Amino acid sequence: MTLSRRFLLRGAAAAGLPLAAVAALTGCTANPATGRSSFMAFQSIEGDVATGRREYPKLVKAFGGAYDDRRVQGYVEGIGRRLAPFTEYPQLPYTFTVLDTPIVNAFALPGGYVGVTRGLLALASSEAELASVIGHELGHVNARHSAERMGQGMLAQLGVLVVGVATGSADLARLAGTAATLYVQSYSRDQEFEADMLGGRYMTRAGYDPEGMVGLLATLREQSQVEAAMKGLPPGQVDQFNMMSTHPRTIDRTRAALQQAQATRPADAVVGRAPYLQTIDGLVFGDRPENGVVDGRTFIHPTLRLRFTVPPGYVLRNGDDAVTARGPGGGLIQADLTPLRGDVGRTLQAQLAKTPARAFERLSVNGLPGATASVPLRTNQGRAEGQVVLVDLGGGQALRFLFAAPPGRFAAASGGFRETTYSLARLSPAEAAAIRARRLDVRTVRPGETVAALAQGLPYGRFNEAWFRLLNDMAAGAPVRPGQTVKVVG
Ligand SMILES: [Zn+2]
Repeated sequence: MTLSRRFLLRGAAAAGLPLAAVAALTGCTANPATGRSSFMAFQSIEGDVATGRREYPKLVKAFGGAYDDRRVQGYVEGIGRRLAPFTEYPQLPYTFTVLDTPIVNAFALPGGYVGVTRGLLALASSEAELASVIGHELGHVNARHSAERMGQGMLAQLGVLVVGVATGSADLARLAGTAATLYVQSYSRDQEFEADMLGGRYMTRAGYDPEGMVGLLATLREQSQVEAAMKGLPPGQVDQFNMMSTHPRTIDRTRAALQQAQATRPADAVVGRAPYLQTIDGLVFGDRPENGVVDGRTFIHPTLRLRFTVPPGYVLRNGDDAVTARGPGGGLIQADLTPLRGDVGRTLQAQLAKTPARAFERLSVNGLPGATASVPLRTNQGRAEGQVVLVDLGGGQALRFLFAAPPGRFAAASGGFRETTYSLARLSPAEAAAIRARRLDVRTVRPGETVAALAQGLPYGRFNEAWFRLLNDMAAGAPVRPGQTVKVVG
């Protein structure tokens, strides 16, 4: 049945028949990738294409848009084109896009629309690893898992996502509630197993080493651990836009899914480490400067022309809506922009009118008018003491700091909070213009260089070394060797 359907579809495509006509001709309901026929009535394969074509631009926009580099886009597309003929639906209008976001993920929309983030590209170390992500996504497309999810009433879960997205990026928040979010939600473990199995099969047939899938998965799992630690979350708990959240997989299950692919692996299977590293040399890494950049404990925003520094031990995270920093002892710093209504003092009074805020004071922060007040807070982890500071940036907007710590710990943290407030300063136009995006630099380790020194260009403070090891597939404690090729961030 698989063969006859493929033959019909290929024959029809060759004859120039539209896909809608093909479905009417075949009337077939079993999926050639999985053999299952359930849920297929929900949407036809040509319906998949229409859905994907409609929703894909929204998802691309929400994930930072297409990465503006034809060489990188062409390379990734080339890998996709090499795999696509070995799928069950080779006639789909396959589209491959590198997305301009540091988020680590990949997704596929029905009909063959595949997105891979530059955050994920930075972590992969070979063509086979990248092919494994694309193959896995092609597996989801060909097994038509999205249609299954919709058929199984995934719409009911939309509310959960809307709540969960509150602290994410503004574009992603806007996306929440649209149909496109369905495609960045979690697949089931069975669907993941199937996507791994199919992806491994496509890889092997296209001549890639399927072991690349295991290698990249190990890196992605470690990255999710480091990201959770940076956000002060329990190990392995990552936000819903991380690959490990939307594609829940374990190394054991992926290995099991790859059994057949490994057995048929060609002797000269391509790993492609050198061409891969050559392609991602110079890739933008981390935040785009126009959205503000984190440089160790300092946040710099060239467009708003401001900078501030958080206390030692705090780890900064830049989001579209706010910058947050978590520190020792449950200390939290959040900074965002707020419109001014009148001067800073009146704006602060108005914003805190419905709270038991007290101790209103005016201040001057490096010449900028400011106002502050204490306010008790209720958080999802219990009560906290808080301090709000507004600083007039001109142009009718203020920078708003919220400083918080658990009761009894605020006094100890307040010195650092005060330093943060008074570290706020304007950038000169020249300073703002000098801020450039960080880029990956693929280079050779020189004699005497250490992991600590090579990790210095990363923006993650005390997590720099952990990140360097993620980028370079290095186990904890392992040293670098002269002559070794590494990715550093400059
Ligand atoms: Zn998946």
